[in-house]
Amino acid sequence: MYIHASQMRGSTHPVDMFFLRPPMEGIEGRSDTIRITATLRREEDGYLFAGHIATSVGLACALCNSVSQQVVELDFSLRYGLTGRTGSPSVGLPEDHELTTEECDMAELDDQGRIDLTRFSKDQIYLSLPLQPRCRRDCRGLCSLCGTDLNNGTCACTLPVSDPRLAALAQLRNRF
Ligand SMILES: [Zn+2]
Ligand SMILES: [Zn+2]
Repeated sequence: MYIHASQMRGSTHPVDMFFLRPPMEGIEGRSDTIRITATLRREEDGYLFAGHIATSVGLACALCNSVSQQVVELDFSLRYGLTGRTGSPSVGLPEDHELTTEECDMAELDDQGRIDLTRFSKDQIYLSLPLQPRCRRDCRGLCSLCGTDLNNGTCACTLPVSDPRLAALAQLRNRF
């Protein structure tokens, strides 16, 4: 999926596109469609591409390892330089040059003057994923002794009591 930025007529171009999400490392389950609704605006020294991405991804829970489908909704705003410019915004700058926010957000059109939406949306989705995905907020995880999924039932293992309130109560009891 591409937007031909360099062929756009007028100063703004509305984008409303659906396409199937390509396989992504670390994302499980069925492949959902990605919807991008955005505006591409021609600016003096490039393009401003801003809008919204909606899709859903299958993520393995960090606690119990079960895969659940989770909705991804994110806003983006990215500047593209004109084609034929230097490859990276920092090229030619001294090494200790600190990049301003604008320079960091600068992206490149491909050599045909296009925005590669497949690659673009993959990058944006990766940035938005949680580091520790959870299948649900109160996931109980797996028993650390026998591996039973504690969301589906209990096991026979007895874990030492770690609740500080119970420990304080036990101390009180020992005093009398
Ligand atoms: Zn879980
Ligand atoms: Zn157990």
